Amino acid sequence: MPLSAALGVLSWALVRAFQNRWLCWGLLPSLAAAVGFICSCTILETLLTFSFMDRYMVRYPSAPPAPGAPAEKKDATRRDLFTKLQQRISWWTQLRSSLYQVLGPLNVIGIAVNAYLLPLAGAVTPLDAPRTPEGYHPLSIFGVSGFVPIAHPVGKLLTQLDIRVATGVRSLLAAIDPTSASVGAEELSGLLPTFTTHVIQFFFMMLIADFFLYWGHRLQHDIEYAWKHFHSLHHQLSTPTPVGTAFIDNTDALLQAGLPLILTGLIVRPHPVTLWLYMAFHLTNNALNHSGLECWWINLIALKWLPMRSGNSHHDTHHRFSHYGKNAKNYAEMFWLWDYVFGTYSDGAMKLVKVG
Ligand SMILES: [Zn+2]
Ligand SMILES: [Zn+2]
Repeated sequence: MPLSAALGVLSWALVRAFQNRWLCWGLLPSLAAAVGFICSCTILETLLTFSFMDRYMVRYPSAPPAPGAPAEKKDATRRDLFTKLQQRISWWTQLRSSLYQVLGPLNVIGIAVNAYLLPLAGAVTPLDAPRTPEGYHPLSIFGVSGFVPIAHPVGKLLTQLDIRVATGVRSLLAAIDPTSASVGAEELSGLLPTFTTHVIQFFFMMLIADFFLYWGHRLQHDIEYAWKHFHSLHHQLSTPTPVGTAFIDNTDALLQAGLPLILTGLIVRPHPVTLWLYMAFHLTNNALNHSGLECWWINLIALKWLPMRSGNSHHDTHHRFSHYGKNAKNYAEMFWLWDYVFGTYSDGAMKLVKVG
């Protein structure tokens, strides 16, 4: 199929999706999250089966040898630990639980709530967005559209960046299909967010969703009832792998994923394509945080190089050293910022926390 035809089909599909609120704001974000989780989980679990990945596994300093213990006794490797855990809570049990959370009935409620509330909160698609007034950069954040005058230095910078990215993409498409790529690209460009709008909305989605996740998570450690009845289930995974990402109680899923993502969408009111991509990324990040891998090339793809971004060991140490109620550490999953701001950040010191 020529490239222009493929881009034409994509444009046609986007217009159909934008025309239907249930599809655009309900089903597709939810589907993107499920696809993000299933794909990342499959890739990471496959990688974990190879022994060459052992070099990337998070390691913790050995505990001081107990008095009288044989000096040659070695600590169990991470592979030993998660294999042992999977004898208690099988890999399939974890997978069933995770799939139930990303595809199950709670998701259907999320689809309905998002489809109803997002348009009500002012989220718009390119089909119903007001045209950006002449002389304004089409940046849309928190539902406000076209508020940066191009004459302003910020407007100038954003416009420059958008032009450069658009030119680069068009050159790439032209290199693949010189005769027709520009025709399809023209049609598509009106339906996609500009580069800068996408990046800024994506960043705020990361930041705000993580804030709500932080509190949805922390409250379940601080409130004894919530810890006992909801969140302690997830902490049965002292050495998690990606398949256990959503091995959680329904209320836990609501507090750490459902509500944070819905509230964030209502605040940021992103472009639909940005929302779909973010949902896939959010679940991919969750799965990666449960992999126990600190691997430079995976971290590069997962934007773990961004400022204040938490490495995978941030959540891994939470599982390892904070599997109890009050006064736990490292609640956030996207950035270490919120833990730092609210006084729950810990890196090396975590291993000194006495486990109760
Ligand atoms: Zn926890
Ligand atoms: Zn976890």
